[in-house]
Amino acid sequence: MNLQESLETVRFIAKSTVTEEALVVDEQGIWPEQSIRALQKAGLGGLVVATEMGGLGQGLTGLAQACEILGEVSGSTALCFGMHCVGSAVIGAKATAQQQQDLLKPIAAGEHLTTLALSEPGTGAHFYYPQTQLLALSEAEYLVNGNKSFVTNGGKADSYVLSTLGVDPEASQEAFSCMVLRGDTLELAWGPEWKGLGMRGNSSKTLFLKDVKVPAQNLLGEVGDQLWYIFQVVAPYFLTAMSGTYLGIAQAAFNEARKHLMERSYRHNGTTLSQNTLLQHRLGLLWSKIERTRQLLYHATREGEKNTAAAVLPILASKAEVGHCCVEVVNEAMTLMGGIAYSQHSRLDVLLRDARAAHVMSPTTDILYTWLGRALLEQPILDN
Ligand SMILES: Cc1cc2nc3c(=O)[nH]c(=O)nc-3n(C[C@H](O)[C@H](O)[C@H](O)COP(=O)(O)OP(=O)(O)OC[C@H]3O[C@@H](n4cnc5c(N)ncnc54)[C@H](O)[C@@H]3O)c2cc1C
Repeated sequence: MNLQESLETVRFIAKSTVTEEALVVDEQGIWPEQSIRALQKAGLGGLVVATEMGGLGQGLTGLAQACEILGEVSGSTALCFGMHCVGSAVIGAKATAQQQQDLLKPIAAGEHLTTLALSEPGTGAHFYYPQTQLLALSEAEYLVNGNKSFVTNGGKADSYVLSTLGVDPEASQEAFSCMVLRGDTLELAWGPEWKGLGMRGNSSKTLFLKDVKVPAQNLLGEVGDQLWYIFQVVAPYFLTAMSGTYLGIAQAAFNEARKHLMERSYRHNGTTLSQNTLLQHRLGLLWSKIERTRQLLYHATREGEKNTAAAVLPILASKAEVGHCCVEVVNEAMTLMGGIAYSQHSRLDVLLRDARAAHVMSPTTDILYTWLGRALLEQPILDN
């Protein structure tokens, strides 16, 4: 499947399975099993996996647009699918022959779901400073101890892409390691499901890692090159997947507001809201806000795929801008749609709650603008 065919397939599944499941996913806070399985079955589990591994070989553009399509229908599903793709990209960046065989090929075949487990209770939004300990038991095995918080697809994934401190206790904080933990590892213990205000189907859980044994072959890349992972793979793929997701949510709110203005008519004068100049103007502003944010995101993904040094600025800016766009558009749509929308379990209720996660998922909006400023001022991006 090329890019257009892949996106057509996402669109088809979004309109059918994801739409059918979306309401119950939010209302009951259940993980979108049917939607994720439908996406995997259609070959989309391997969206960003190289074609040599049987994947679709898409990059940031495909990821942004796939998440955008899904986000328009279900924020939770887009988030779960997006995190799987980010995890796949991290695994694929420097996969060994064994990892290609054990992970990438099953991911491409739709038989393996992965996800990112980077955040920790102790370092919060600063997910790039893990405190999880890694101890070499032998050349073939490591021992992992620590906690990972807010793991999307928690308990559902077949593997977890984990960050830990480096093996050498003397090494700098930046010399951490990334590894893949299999979901069926015996020592894994999960906390209760986190009950989010929105994104209620993402099965977010805390992962407790106490004396967990991990084969050395599960290490991703070389010890010490992990900041490379953060800035070359995790950040671009994560920011792109989340930008697409929240842009989709903004678009959904816009569509709801437009539909309402077209359909709401008054008995006292026979007009519809679509004939009101002020509301016409406000809808025009919303469209412009979404479209300029979309163009920034698409520009970022094109530059990111060319791997230019200049790509970092639009990539950082796009998630921050999408965050503002999404929260503002949903908020404004709620006003435009009046009391009818201001009711529990309305579509806008779901969108409003889902949208609020945009600013707090790390790198958060505030952190992104700071990184952007530092990059512009030629300062080191990370503080300590
Ligand atoms: C729906 C959802 C899904 C998630 N899924 C995953 C996942 O799959 N995997 C994963 O690893 N994590 C995941 N996370 C975690 C997420 O990425 C963040 O790590 C987490 O939300 C941070 O929460 P906290 O309360 O610890 O924030 P805190 O670290 O306490 O931060 C609170 C606020 O302070 C601000 N702040 C902190 N430091 C700075 C600074 N230096 N400059 C400016 N502002 C600053 C932050 O921006 C934030 O607004 C998820 C979170 C949510 C809400």
